[in-house]
Amino acid sequence: MHGREGQAECIEIRLVPHEAIRGRCSACRQPAPGYDRLSERKWLFVPLWGIPTWFRYAPRRVQCGEHGVMVEHIPWSAGKRPITCAMMGFLARWGRRLSWRETARVFQTSWEAVYRSLEWFVQWGLARRVLKGIEALGVDEIHWGHGLRADNFLTVIYQIDAGCRRLLWVGKRRTQASLRRGLQTLGPEVVQGLRFVCSDMWKPYLQVIAAQAGQALHVLDRFHITSHLNQAVDQVRRGESSRLRAAGKAIAERLKHLRWPLLRRGSRVRGQVRQKLNALLSSKLATARAWELKETFSHFWKYKSLTWAQAFLDYWCSRALRSRLEPMKKVARMLRTHEPLILNWFRAKGEISSGAVEGLNNKIRVVTRRSYGFRTFHAMEIALYHTLGRLPEPESTHRFC
Ligand SMILES: [Zn+2]
Repeated sequence: MHGREGQAECIEIRLVPHEAIRGRCSACRQPAPGYDRLSERKWLFVPLWGIPTWFRYAPRRVQCGEHGVMVEHIPWSAGKRPITCAMMGFLARWGRRLSWRETARVFQTSWEAVYRSLEWFVQWGLARRVLKGIEALGVDEIHWGHGLRADNFLTVIYQIDAGCRRLLWVGKRRTQASLRRGLQTLGPEVVQGLRFVCSDMWKPYLQVIAAQAGQALHVLDRFHITSHLNQAVDQVRRGESSRLRAAGKAIAERLKHLRWPLLRRGSRVRGQVRQKLNALLSSKLATARAWELKETFSHFWKYKSLTWAQAFLDYWCSRALRSRLEPMKKVARMLRTHEPLILNWFRAKGEISSGAVEGLNNKIRVVTRRSYGFRTFHAMEIALYHTLGRLPEPESTHRFC
């Protein structure tokens, strides 16, 4: 123990090799005769009684028959890292519950040490994860950071099978090349075994999915279509609000406050807000018509028969195209273009969950927001795999969480 004024600053544990046990070659793990000893090194261990704890050990070098002179295998260490595997696992597990900065502060270490520990933990898991039995894939784009540069978007690939939902891959940008890289990482066996792929109407993705996973039923996600509709309603509302304000009409102010009720599902708006919404809806405003179109579309998802769903889609699109509301017309055109893929939702009914991609996206947002301080893509990538990848974890005797 080292400390001042009776207060321990750190605990140092000096380790000595057992004389009767030979060191093992770090390449092949076979026992080998000793060669010499290196100078002493330190490894950070799990804190004891809240006091930072270090292992001190002078590693031996062994003369391996196959590999020549090698440093011995050190069971508590991984590579040249100055932290024991036990501590890396410990920090990594806490790093899932607290922010990295908080983890570093609580356990009196550096942000960098937490980062490196998580990196090791995640790489350990990625190398050992099993990519078998994946039938349903969700592909999506995520916005990250500030601005709309190409680098502010990420492509994510999820497994969305009922029994296992997890992040499989995350990469920079949202281009064909990004998705191709992702699918390549998963390997041809996974891609050819897919039965369902769920995505947005983003053209680069559509093209890659058609080219590489043609056997899978490609479904356009309900959640994405709903959000396109919501965006259209909001565009109509904003446009109308500023037109009315310019004309000096009082209703402009009311429209401004109805943004959220308008975007929610109609059946979920209650109470006073509902009354305000009703007042708006009985008006002849463009926003009211856009909202009504959006609400009508929700019936689409209730159809059981493909034929009727198709008929409804047709009817809805022609109504929207006659609505003289440009944002709604745009959605209608988009839906028409992708009609077969949208109708695949009915062909896949019951087999894939429409909420899976949305749910995983929301979780990603929590992580990317918490990781606001992360300057690099790599750090965030590690955080995402760590929280959403369901990766296998190294065994640990110091598991506290
Ligand atoms: Zn060897």
